[in-house]
Amino acid sequence: MLRYLTIPVTAFQQNCSLLWDDASLQAAVIDPGGDLDRILAAVAERGLALQQIWLTHAHIDHAGGTGELAERLALPIVGPHPGDQFWIDGLPQQSQMFGFPPARAFTPTRWLDDGDTVTLGEHTLNVRHCPGHTPGHVVFHVPQIQRAFVGDVLFAGSIGRTDFPQGNHQQLLDSIVQRLWPMGDETVFIPGHGPESSFGRERRSNPYVGGT
Ligand SMILES: [Zn+2]
Ligand SMILES: [Zn+2]
Repeated sequence: MLRYLTIPVTAFQQNCSLLWDDASLQAAVIDPGGDLDRILAAVAERGLALQQIWLTHAHIDHAGGTGELAERLALPIVGPHPGDQFWIDGLPQQSQMFGFPPARAFTPTRWLDDGDTVTLGEHTLNVRHCPGHTPGHVVFHVPQIQRAFVGDVLFAGSIGRTDFPQGNHQQLLDSIVQRLWPMGDETVFIPGHGPESSFGRERRSNPYVGGT
């Protein structure tokens, strides 16, 4: 069985998540934006064996702690999609601009693309490329527990910003309708910020994508 825990990190209260297999205790961390000591305390508290870093996209609040964490624990970095290379290269400037602790650029061990899978213990998860907020944004779908980690694509009652370089509003809407909705109305998503919701609830009531 897969379990997860969400830990808001950084001044932006970004929802970093730990996902683990409760039989083997093998774990992945999704979007370690910062506050590494808090993340690692949660790992230790549960006796987890942290094995991988998965990234939805390379904004500072999601990826800022990646380089340091990968180096400290010798972890592979999985994702995002190569479209976010320029955001990764810009991490040192992003950290200065937003007053974050210094963040370093890194090279993902493995880039992701639409239709890829990632594995955690014996479990296989699906990757969808959902550009619009950033060009290389991906989401992780966990059908076993009807969950999806969607980063800044969709929020409860809102959608991701598209006013950044290479953001694209129509592309974001298409990503949501064509790649998130097919995961099913019952699927609960963990957004990059704020509370969880379900795709069904957003399809009914989200002012940006409701009724689609
Ligand atoms: Zn973002
Ligand atoms: Zn964010």
